[in-house]
Amino acid sequence: MSRQTKIVATLGPATTSPESLRAIVDAGVDVVRMNLSHGDHDEHRGRAEALHQAAQDAGRVVGMLCDLQGPKIRVERFADGPAELEEGAGFFLDPELGGDAGSAEGVGVAYAGLPDDVAPGDILLLADGLIRLRVERIQGTRIHTTVLVGGTLSDRKGINRLGGGLSVRALTDKDRVDIKLAAELEADYVAVSFPRDGADIDEARSLLRDAGGHGGIVAKIERHEAVDALAEIMEAADAVMIARGDLAVEIGDAELPGVQKRIMRMARERDCVVITATQMMQSMVDNPMPTRAEVLDVANAVLDGTDAVMLSEETAMGQFPAETVAAMARVCVGAETYADETRPMAGLAPGVHFDRIDEAIAKTAITTANSLGAKAIAAMTESGATAMWMSRIGTDIPIYALSEQPRTRRKVTLYRGVNPISFDPMQREHDAVNREAVAELQSRNAVSGDDLVVITKGDLAGVRGGTNALKVVRVNEIL
Ligand code: PGA
Ligand code: MN
Repeated sequence: MSRQTKIVATLGPATTSPESLRAIVDAGVDVVRMNLSHGDHDEHRGRAEALHQAAQDAGRVVGMLCDLQGPKIRVERFADGPAELEEGAGFFLDPELGGDAGSAEGVGVAYAGLPDDVAPGDILLLADGLIRLRVERIQGTRIHTTVLVGGTLSDRKGINRLGGGLSVRALTDKDRVDIKLAAELEADYVAVSFPRDGADIDEARSLLRDAGGHGGIVAKIERHEAVDALAEIMEAADAVMIARGDLAVEIGDAELPGVQKRIMRMARERDCVVITATQMMQSMVDNPMPTRAEVLDVANAVLDGTDAVMLSEETAMGQFPAETVAAMARVCVGAETYADETRPMAGLAPGVHFDRIDEAIAKTAITTANSLGAKAIAAMTESGATAMWMSRIGTDIPIYALSEQPRTRRKVTLYRGVNPISFDPMQREHDAVNREAVAELQSRNAVSGDDLVVITKGDLAGVRGGTNALKVVRVNEIL
């Protein structure tokens, strides 16, 4: 069985060489994430170029997501490598210290306003909550703290305050510049970090469009306020990311499992794509095998209906990037095989109402294919919207997004169960186009013999939102 759940992998030093990039593409990466919190524009241009080359060489379609840094507050760098923070010791944070002067005594911070924003007694969480500091006193620009939970602190790790509320605006000046880079790189998705509401998403989208970018907008759910505004954020965004690193720090880890499941359910109900992210296979940064708990974490996200699972440090700086992708792919396929055991096949909601013809065709195509036991669903799609709607309804039947638009083929790489196919029919007449589509699937060994294929398309090729027809054909009768 081919895998339905998509894999997003973050690029970094471990996946910079052409060989290592090619290895994760071959292992099954569907979308790469460029983390704009690190590196300069030329570095990202180089990565984008290398990605296109690797995907082309591998004969695969790989999407690209540019993840904006957002208003995340980070420590600066250490003079002599990572510092060991010992429980009970003092440690200071100081925006005036300078960028490269960190030591075991203290470190710089890339936010001049931090000393004004914190007060004695506040708990600061560093490196996604690994390290815990209590603020004791503020002297000038220097914040003196006591280490409550120690650990290894390396360059540019994030700082949060327990309970949230440290920073306000979602799109920083750097993000505004980086959105132009995302447009230039033709990113298929742009992720907004720490959005509070739908307006933050709308603003990112209009900045991206003004810069000439076509990408979809991903809202990272990682602050307290965003959990309260899920419905409007999902309305505004193309996709949400359950950004568990910062989210757990803001809401507390005990709340995280329930909130993850709520986000997943709401996203599916609202035709929003969903990515589950952070620490999914964290131990594979240093080990060639995942823990049982990590296997279960990935599998549970798959069973709950995530579109994609994401790797961060595992592929950016881990020792086993390709092994991690392969392990994740294996666990996804295994979990998908058991989807019926744990989750009833989700059909259309009773009394469902459609506002749009293309949406109605797309969703009923899936229930038709499910009830007939079709072998494949072929969606001839200009924008990819038909394939997105199809992928909201549960099915084990592969959905093929047939499009002549390279952008559309890259966009659907994030949708669960959707496989992009380059398709530019020679003929214009309906029967002939259907025949070409089925022949294309047969040439890929996707269908054969008396298999049934469900086809959707519009009257006119090249028109967005024009899907208005559903046709069911038998392979050996049409060819
Ligand atoms: P980050 O986002 O890796 O950019 O912090 C993901 C998360 O917070 O989980
Ligand atoms: Mn984050």
